[in-house]
Amino acid sequence: MTSSRRQMFDVSHLDIKCGDCGKQIQELPLQTSMDRPIYCRDCDANNRAAGPRSGSGFRGSRF
Ligand SMILES: [Zn+2]
Repeated sequence: MTSSRRQMFDVSHLDIKCGDCGKQIQELPLQTSMDRPIYCRDCDANNRAAGPRSGSGFRGSRF
């Protein structure tokens, strides 16, 4: 019964909002980087399903 190997920590007191749907994030994996937009479980699952390469909102725009 060990479906989730990732340890989660409570971030409900940090008032972090999902970068997609705006829902408040209650908990995050320990390895989450705060440099990137944080997504809730649903949006994170959708992003992963859509494609692991789409990490940023920029589509290869160059100066
Ligand atoms: Zn979301």
